[in-house]
Amino acid sequence: MTMIRVAPPLPQEVDLAKTYDAVIVGSGAAGGMAAHVLTAHGMQVLLLEAGKKIDINQELRSMQWPYEHPRRGDAPPGSHAISFNEYTVRQPPYAKAAAFRHVYSYVGGWGGSDYVKNILVDEKDHPYTGTRYAWVRARLLGGKTNIWGRLALRLSDYDFKAKSHDGYGEDWPISYADLAPYYDKVDLYLGISGVKENLPHLPDSLFQRPTKLNIAEVQLRERLKAMGRVVTPYRAGVTTDGVKHNKYRSKCFGRGACNRRPGGCDIHAAFDSPTGLIYPAMDTGRLTLRTNSTAYEVLVDRNTGRARGVAFVDSENRKSYEAKAKVVILAASTLESARLLLLSRSRQYPNGIGNSSGHVGHNFCEHVMGPGVTGLVKELVGKPHTLDDGRPGGFYLPRFRNLKDREPGFIRGYGFEGSSGHSMFPRHTSDTPGFGAQFKKHIRDYAGAFISMGAFGEVLPRYESHVDLDTVEKDRWGIPVLRFHYQFGDNERKMAEDMATTAREMFEAAGIEVIGVDRDVLTEGWSIHELGTARMGSDPKTSVLNQFQQSHDVRNLFVVDGSSHVSASCQNPTWTIMSLAWRSCDYLADEFRKGGGNV
Ligand SMILES: Cc1cc2nc3c(=O)[nH]c(=O)nc-3n(C[C@H](O)[C@H](O)[C@H](O)COP(=O)(O)OP(=O)(O)OC[C@H]3O[C@@H](n4cnc5c(N)ncnc54)[C@H](O)[C@@H]3O)c2cc1C
Ligand code: SF4
Repeated sequence: MTMIRVAPPLPQEVDLAKTYDAVIVGSGAAGGMAAHVLTAHGMQVLLLEAGKKIDINQELRSMQWPYEHPRRGDAPPGSHAISFNEYTVRQPPYAKAAAFRHVYSYVGGWGGSDYVKNILVDEKDHPYTGTRYAWVRARLLGGKTNIWGRLALRLSDYDFKAKSHDGYGEDWPISYADLAPYYDKVDLYLGISGVKENLPHLPDSLFQRPTKLNIAEVQLRERLKAMGRVVTPYRAGVTTDGVKHNKYRSKCFGRGACNRRPGGCDIHAAFDSPTGLIYPAMDTGRLTLRTNSTAYEVLVDRNTGRARGVAFVDSENRKSYEAKAKVVILAASTLESARLLLLSRSRQYPNGIGNSSGHVGHNFCEHVMGPGVTGLVKELVGKPHTLDDGRPGGFYLPRFRNLKDREPGFIRGYGFEGSSGHSMFPRHTSDTPGFGAQFKKHIRDYAGAFISMGAFGEVLPRYESHVDLDTVEKDRWGIPVLRFHYQFGDNERKMAEDMATTAREMFEAAGIEVIGVDRDVLTEGWSIHELGTARMGSDPKTSVLNQFQQSHDVRNLFVVDGSSHVSASCQNPTWTIMSLAWRSCDYLADEFRKGGGNV
């Protein structure tokens, strides 16, 4: 197969004397989608991104074998990735007083990964304080989408109307019917692979060719049918058939380094914001991109109280600038957008812009992880080797709790992500005893026979789960950092116990020998699915944004990332973040047109 790479478009000249129609802060899933939709509507858009534009193909090197790398993929000496124990025993800021030159979040594994050393933030430059939290950040063009796990799921009315179902929290101000057309648009524009299952709690997408389940996974799928549980091929935000309208992307080659510590797809079959959204938006001639631009305040017109632009510092030369725009759109990710709202204090907005409700930073939620199961499919031991990781994911086992039934111990639900079979580095090599020829034979014989899955559960939004600004600690650019006030509650702990129990039950029911059950809950933040710090709602007293992610207080201010989520559900959020952003930007562009160039 030949891969033709198309060079990114040439950057447009930034004109800071000009008033753009819209300025977007952040270029990840949310900001990229806003740029795509608004430029498609003919608006002149400036996109500010705090990180660099790096040569991502050079960085990811997914064709590289471990033995082709001098350290088998490890980061250079002097680098350190924070471990589970450090997160648990110590308090943030985790990198404070660390002897290492660079400190990264846990992503990438023990020694840190050479492939993400320029993608993940250096915790030394980006501290945070408060309760323990494993905060994973990627500051570069495209943000976390450069290395995301690609599981692309829809929410249903079990999520949007969760309060009506069990009485807890708030319903979203929209229902599935409002968002379904936008999920469809995202599916068609970006490409998603999967299999239709007709589940009311996990609506199907407009799928391209699915990746195949392997033997062990098919066994699990078939045997769990009797329990009413579904095992479906990983619903991947990956184009398997190709997207003809986008010259920057190729269809999936299926040769699988995409799960390497973590992976990243330099074929650009897996969605990433630069090739999927930003480069096509630049090709319209209406998008101007400025990287190395760290926003620190939404600027306000003293007379009208409206947003008038964004103040930012050049991340390299540390000079401050102002960008002017008729509409300001925050898309810096859930926690960073909340930080920006809180940082934007003025005479009109003493508690931060858009915060008359006092809810900015609150109702923070995500997913709880840790419990899971590992098993052995004995029939596969010693069988010929197969290529199992030449695919962007294994399987997904959707939520089954608290749909028709009511669990006595907890509300809401969880799903499992899992996989089995051969991988580039044989599974369980490091925890298998032995040495020499016998050891190698054992590893080879067993390599393809393991199967495992781990759960992602809904964390309830609670007003008291929040972030605010630390009054002392600042980041490398002198900007006050976030302080966390957040920990899992009783509902999450009970749910986690149930995860471990049902994981074992299901493997046993499928005739898989259970060789290990994980019961421990991982540190808060581990899911990298942070949500809810500027929730939407109909009541301006208890919510920050309306159903179009528009500030209740400031009409020309929008926040289009996961901060608008009312609850976390247990499905991975990125496809929903982009569908909501598309819907809101359609509304914004329409209002802009009707208002003669103003919202
Ligand atoms: C290893 C990994 C696996 C994941 N797996 C999945 C998965 O399987 N499924 C799923 O749905 N999600 C997954 N996610 C989460 C997914 O990546 C995020 O949900 C998604 O990227 C959120 O998009 P965003 O635009 O809100 O934030 P981001 O992608 O983080 O983008 C935010 C951007 O804003 C920039 N920024 C921040 N602050 C400022 C500032 N002050 N000024 C200017 N720019 C700023 C950042 O540099 C960044 O580029 C995973 C993430 C990781 C890291
Ligand atoms: S298997 Fe597909 S999605 Fe994964 S890295 Fe290769 S081309 Fe990308």
